[in-house]
Amino acid sequence: MPADGELEITDRARRLYRDAIVIDTHNDLVTKVLDEGYDPAVRHAPVQGHTDVPRLIDSGLTAQVLAAWVDAPYAQRGPGASFARALAYADAIHALVDAYPAALCFATTAANVRRAKAAGTVAIFMGVEGGHAIEDSLDNLRELKRRGACYLTLTWNNGNTWAGSSIGSGDTRTTGLTRFGRQVIGELNRLGMLVDVSHTSSETLADVLAASQAPVIASHSSARALADHPRNLSDEELRAIAARGGVICVNFYSRFIEVRVREAMDAAEARVEAEPAGTAAQRSARLEALLERIPPTPLSVLIDHIDHIARVAGIDHVGLGSDFDGIRLTPAGAADVTAYPRIAQALLDRGYADDDVRKVLGANVLRLMDDVLGADA
Ligand SMILES: [Zn+2]
Repeated sequence: MPADGELEITDRARRLYRDAIVIDTHNDLVTKVLDEGYDPAVRHAPVQGHTDVPRLIDSGLTAQVLAAWVDAPYAQRGPGASFARALAYADAIHALVDAYPAALCFATTAANVRRAKAAGTVAIFMGVEGGHAIEDSLDNLRELKRRGACYLTLTWNNGNTWAGSSIGSGDTRTTGLTRFGRQVIGELNRLGMLVDVSHTSSETLADVLAASQAPVIASHSSARALADHPRNLSDEELRAIAARGGVICVNFYSRFIEVRVREAMDAAEARVEAEPAGTAAQRSARLEALLERIPPTPLSVLIDHIDHIARVAGIDHVGLGSDFDGIRLTPAGAADVTAYPRIAQALLDRGYADDDVRKVLGANVLRLMDDVLGADA
């Protein structure tokens, strides 16, 4: 048996993958571009970054949602800061697409994805992450839609004045949607934007499912029954999202999907925390060295999450939302955006029918886009 990382890709898997629509619904490349001076034009090693344009082209992805992630501290920086940050992402994403007219195209609909497949380009969507980005203004939400946003992730690890977060910084771990929160859901429905429930508290998720007229997405969340982490979804939540026609896109982060890694990362962070203070750079280097010693999550664990969601929610309700470039440790064999053919192979190896593999790779998300994002502009 080859190790996960060297999984052999059969001709059948290669053909299936080449013809399939492949969609990943969450990637943080643009944060690296904005904050680290990361050059997306240059091919990087996976340890430097999970994504760049050369590897996006190699990946065979049909569509990638790039996150416009507004970090929690922006909420404290005064009026305008969070919304301006979201707009900076929108500008950066459009600039990235404009720089590669032959390889990338900006997308807002399912039709754009099909056209990208036919043209051999990668459709780039923008998803806004962190509801504080709209600063309690439906006008701001409408502006983000005009800039091309396909979804709003209602919270990040911080909740906001109208929705609670599963991690609960800001003490919103157990809060649901407020009246204004329900108005946000109504406006997302009206605008033809996806409601993204990744990161939200269980109470907020339940309120969203009661309020939303349209099916929802969990753009980057895995299964809590396999790994008990607040960022993952319980079986009951998986079923509830599926019952309304939604799709759960599996997050690849080893910390979320494997308890062993979560515990090892928690311990490494606690150890660095307890050491005599050094500079931030020294502490970060010490942490990096400790994380490197953690044996990687096998690819099979990631496939277990896909398989679990397919069993519990149904094969029509599971997709892929890697969270690449927003995560520190990835499974073996899924170290960067070129990993998706190995996922197709691993599913075939588990006896998945070709059609079911296509559903996981992208057909389910494409259906959701058809249902919610509306017709071509
Ligand atoms: Zn996230």
